Amino acid sequence: MGRAPLTVGSSRDITRELGYDIDLDRAVELIRKSNLLRVGLQAPEGLKRATVAIARQIAKETGSEVIISGDPCYGACDVDLKLCEEVDLMLHLGHAELNEGPEKVLFLEARMRDDPRLAVEKATLLLTAERVGVTTTIQHLHKLAQVMEVLREHRIEGVLGPAGGRVKYAGQVLGCCYSSAKAIEVSEYLFIGTGQFHPLGIALATGKRVVVADPVTCNVSEIDPDPLLRRRFGTIVRASKANRFAVLISKKHGQKRVDLARRIKNLGEANGKEMFLIYLDNIEPDRLINLGIEAAVSTACPRVALDDAAKYKIPILTPPEFEVLVGERPWEKYAFDEME
Ligand code: SF4
Repeated sequence: MGRAPLTVGSSRDITRELGYDIDLDRAVELIRKSNLLRVGLQAPEGLKRATVAIARQIAKETGSEVIISGDPCYGACDVDLKLCEEVDLMLHLGHAELNEGPEKVLFLEARMRDDPRLAVEKATLLLTAERVGVTTTIQHLHKLAQVMEVLREHRIEGVLGPAGGRVKYAGQVLGCCYSSAKAIEVSEYLFIGTGQFHPLGIALATGKRVVVADPVTCNVSEIDPDPLLRRRFGTIVRASKANRFAVLISKKHGQKRVDLARRIKNLGEANGKEMFLIYLDNIEPDRLINLGIEAAVSTACPRVALDDAAKYKIPILTPPEFEVLVGERPWEKYAFDEME
């Protein structure tokens, strides 16, 4: 059966409406060139409402069957491996690939269209150093040249830390990896992006001042890690009263840290705690309710313990926080949970 001609640019329009550029034409070309019959499509929540339109477009342009992953997706660490078994190619939208991952996956990064110039202009009023580390997430990486230009206009030298490990691009940070920020010698960082989690991670991983410039809202702010630290100290104190702990191991290929979980279990047992290894896919409050545990240590994505803590009835710690609880690590050496 003959295939429909490729309509360059038409797939792109769908994601542009959502404020993102995604190179869907690259996927269409690959599917057509390799004559692939079945394609999987996976997207994080922010892009999920585009998946039906994208699936329709890809099917129309390639003649392939498209299966959409309906499960939650949190990052490149979380490719739907079960769906991968059913298809010839998996399209994973929105994230850059990690250092190691499953085969036959095409990562299609989502690039936000917002111009960062105004936010960076405002941020220069908060920056105090002449040389600052510049960091961002995958959505804004393609705008870093503009960021550097604005900094130069204000006689500030912007420095990008190197790619490496889980981080694919210079200057990129992940919620679980701040290696690019830590690799550079600066006294202050500028974070380009939305939300508090990444800049808090930079502040805690480096111990340095972090200024945030949000290209979407044009708001700028300085990060104060103290409220988070106070909350985490309270959680450690609450967890110290527990005797029965779950050590949570994620089934997700890029979040699975079995060796670390075993080390935490041994550490807890050596300190008189009852420790159980629990293996699960999505870590959600309901899944812990019937286990009869009093506290948990999550070896999965650090956001589970740090970002979602309020959802859980029991205290959930990161591995470094559990080390504080058993006296293995002094509180003054509190560390953000990072992955290699
Ligand atoms: S482990 Fe968490 S922070 Fe790291 S890539 Fe996965 S979802 Fe993102």
